Amino acid sequence: MKKQLGEMTLEAVHGDIANQPDMKAIVNAANAELMPGGGVAGAIHRAAGPGLAEECRPMAPIEPGEAVISGAHQLPNTYVIHCLGPVYGMDKPENKLLAECYRNALQLADEKQIDSVAFPAISTGAFGYPFDAATDIALQTILEVIPDLKVVRHIRFVLFGEEDFEVYVGRLRRLK
Ligand code: ADP
Repeated sequence: MKKQLGEMTLEAVHGDIANQPDMKAIVNAANAELMPGGGVAGAIHRAAGPGLAEECRPMAPIEPGEAVISGAHQLPNTYVIHCLGPVYGMDKPENKLLAECYRNALQLADEKQIDSVAFPAISTGAFGYPFDAATDIALQTILEVIPDLKVVRHIRFVLFGEEDFEVYVGRLRRLK
């Protein structure tokens, strides 16, 4: 499902973040050490191969809200942007830290001349952020950042669960 906002295309798809071959960058819901793990980080590192962890090692650890960029190795993309989301109930203020992830990832993409970015639903898996609240923060932050973006023109949300996908579709439909 796609939503056009001026020159920006926002899109929600049901799928795997590690299988988005038409996007220049994908975002990793990383851990502080930028190492393979479960969920999104596991899928991305598996598909990228061991070179990704090797490249990331000198950039770790990162702080909640921070974003760093690497190559994509064996993934079909050019870049991976690694964001550390807040652990719900622990890293405070969690709404601001989650917003920082989306803001920093998009600013980094713009600086690197990246026109298309695919995001997973950061912090909503192992980190426990309630899905609806996290979705509101993601979309609100992206709407705030869009006027500053000179290069990014396509933002895709990749949702693993069917219900999660439907939440995004509902929210995108309601955007003006
Ligand atoms: P976090 O530790 O930031 O919570 P997770 O990777 O545990 O990150 O989960 C973040 C979200 O990504 C969850 O909604 C989870 O269902 C979803 N997810 C898990 N694997 C994938 C994948 N391969 N592609 C896209 N989304 C995924």
